[in-house]
Amino acid sequence: MSGGRDRTTLPSRRRRAQGVELKTAEEVEIMRQAATIVATVLKEIEAMVEPGLSTADLDAYAEQRIRGLGATPSFKGYHGFPASICACVNDQVVHGIPSKRQVLRRGDLLKVDTGAYYQGFHGDSCITLAIGEVSPKAQRLMAAAEAALYAGIDQVKPGNTLLDIAGAIEDSVVSAGFSVVEGFTGHGVGRNLHEAPSVFNVRTRELPNITLRPGMTLAIEPILNAGSKQTRTLKDQWTVVTVDRSLSAQFEHTVLVSETGYEILTDRDRLPTPEIPAVATKPGSR
Ligand code: MG
Ligand code: MG
Repeated sequence: MSGGRDRTTLPSRRRRAQGVELKTAEEVEIMRQAATIVATVLKEIEAMVEPGLSTADLDAYAEQRIRGLGATPSFKGYHGFPASICACVNDQVVHGIPSKRQVLRRGDLLKVDTGAYYQGFHGDSCITLAIGEVSPKAQRLMAAAEAALYAGIDQVKPGNTLLDIAGAIEDSVVSAGFSVVEGFTGHGVGRNLHEAPSVFNVRTRELPNITLRPGMTLAIEPILNAGSKQTRTLKDQWTVVTVDRSLSAQFEHTVLVSETGYEILTDRDRLPTPEIPAVATKPGSR
């Protein structure tokens, strides 16, 4: 099918709509591969996390795995970020720098966000994981974060708008009794890790609303706090934490606006259950 004037098919050559790049079928196929690398790494990290591992151990694993799969870590060096994953524990909201000193303990809530750059395109995804058994509130927060992401994704189809996504996310989070962090948004993703549009998570008129079109590829990533939505940045200039020390959780997927709805490019569920990977380094082993 040609791109032509039909607005319900993927474009046959690269085009823009409302300032947003529409990917061609060939480009989407490469993005599927980039996103699958991200999903693979996150699924393996999910299988391997346990108390005693440090977030630096997870970062080392992610970097060698992404490179082993023929890609480059999207985050490493991005605006100077020093690692291949963002690792946030408990009240850390976003952009946590992995550290040997951040050793996971039973009861921690861990967010792992990573990206892979493959043949010119990025994939981007984030998961929240419970380290051992976590509190009932932490469990509810995790479940609400995942539900909010899927409520947003459910609105992805040609003709709907970013406000449809944001409204569904906001309603989902509010009904669960948690707050949405407003200072950070999702984004377009493709040739650039972050590109137009900003995919906001609450109803706002401060950011451009756009109509979704086939070929748009969006990273949807609501962040939920158990308490206040207010955050602050630590002295390392990266790590963002909740002001009231309450827990924070986030899930993110890279999603294609398809001809009929959506395709979750970073879907982990379609991947086989990983062998539990041998951890590269355990604390005390170096
Ligand atoms: Mg991300
Ligand atoms: Mg992202």
